[in-house]
Amino acid sequence: MSDKFARRMGTVHRSFIREILKVTADPEIISFAGGLPNPELFPVHAMDTASREVFAAVGASALQYSTTEGDLGLRTIIASRYEQRGLQVDPDSILVTTGSQQILDIVAKVFLDRGDKVVIERPGYLGAIQAFSFFEPEFLTVTLESDGPNLVELEKRFEQGAKCFYAVPNFQNPSGVTYSLEKRQAVAELADKYGVLFIEDDPYGELRFLGEDLPSIYSLCHEPGLLCGSFSKIAAPGFRIGWVVAEKEVYDKLVIAKQASDLHTSTVAQAIMRRYLETNDIGSHVGLIKERYGRQRQCMVEMIHQYFPVGVSIIEPEGGMFLWGTLPEGVSSMDVFDTAIKKKVAFVPGRPFYVDGSGENTLRLNFSNSDEQKIEVGIKRLGECLKEFLQ
Ligand code: PMP
Repeated sequence: MSDKFARRMGTVHRSFIREILKVTADPEIISFAGGLPNPELFPVHAMDTASREVFAAVGASALQYSTTEGDLGLRTIIASRYEQRGLQVDPDSILVTTGSQQILDIVAKVFLDRGDKVVIERPGYLGAIQAFSFFEPEFLTVTLESDGPNLVELEKRFEQGAKCFYAVPNFQNPSGVTYSLEKRQAVAELADKYGVLFIEDDPYGELRFLGEDLPSIYSLCHEPGLLCGSFSKIAAPGFRIGWVVAEKEVYDKLVIAKQASDLHTSTVAQAIMRRYLETNDIGSHVGLIKERYGRQRQCMVEMIHQYFPVGVSIIEPEGGMFLWGTLPEGVSSMDVFDTAIKKKVAFVPGRPFYVDGSGENTLRLNFSNSDEQKIEVGIKRLGECLKEFLQ
C-alpha cells in the first residue's frame, strides 16, 4: 500500500502529544502532559439550558446546512467582544471555523505552495507544524526569547524571502512566552517592511493572570494580516468553534478553502454557542477560569522552586496554560520522561516542538488541568526524577 500514499504523507507524522496522552491514560499518573482546559470549569449547565432553548426556539433550522461564513449573530458577538478590548472588527470580516485548528489548514491551503518559506517560532505550536507540513513548505525558525522572538534572526528570515510568519504572541503553546510591547511593535514594523503576511494565533489571549493586556500585532501592522481566535479555552473545546479575522480578498479565498474542507462549521454548535453568549456573562466565566488557572500556575511555580534541582530554568508565564522548562545542556528530557512515567508523573518532552530536531533538553508542563494538590505531588515526583539526571 505504501506506494499509493501521496508524497506529502511522508512528511507529516502523528501528533507526538496525542501519542503521549495514550501512555499517560493510567489514572495513577499525574499528567502535566496534555493541553487540556480544566473540565470542572466547562459551563455544562448553561450549555444544557442554551441547547434546550435553541431546540425550542429554532428547532429544525439549527439542524440544517448553513453558510460557510458562519452565523451572523455569533460573528456580531465576536466582533463586539473585540470592540470591548479596543479592536474594531467588522462581523463580515470574521469567518467562523471548526476550531482554530481548521484555520491553520485553510490558511496553509490558501498561501503555501511546496517550498514556500514560512517562519515559525522555535519552539513552535505542534498543530501548526503538522497542518502546514501537508503543503510541504520550507520552515524557517526564529528563536523565542523570554520576551518574544529574536529580532535579528527574524529580520534575517524575512530577508531570506519568507512569505508568512505564524506566531502565538500571548502565552504561547508550548513555551508560555508573551511578546513584550516593544517586540510586538518591532515584529509589526518588520512584517510591514518586508511584506510578510503575519498570522496571529491567539487562543489564550484572554487568560492573563499577571501584567497588562497588550495590543495584538495584527492591530499594529499596517499591511493586512490574519487574527485567529477560539472558544476552546474560554468556553469549551468540544464545540469546535474558532474564527479568523481577515480582509476581503483573503477572506474570500479562505471561504473557498473552507467550503472544500467541510462546507461550514456545525450549525447546531454555533446556534448553542450564540445562545450561550446571549444569555450568559462570558466575561465573568473567563474571570473564574483566570482565577483558577492563576492559582494553579502560582502553585506550580512555587513547587518547582521548592523541589526542582538547581540547573533547571523555567519561564514563568503571565497567563495561558503552559510552563516551559530547560534542563542543562546534554540532559535529554526524553530520558527523563521514561523515568517520570515509572514514577507516575508525565510532561511533554520539548523536542517535537522544534522542526530542526533541537530542544532535546526542554520540556512543557501544563497547569490548567491539575488542582493544587496534584501539582504539589506531581512536581515533587518530577523533582526527584530530575535529581537523578542532574547529579
Ligand atoms: N492554536 C494554538 C496555539 C493552540 O494551542 C491550539 C489548541 N491546542 C489551537 C490553535 C487549536 O485550538 P482549537 O482548534 O480548539 O481552537
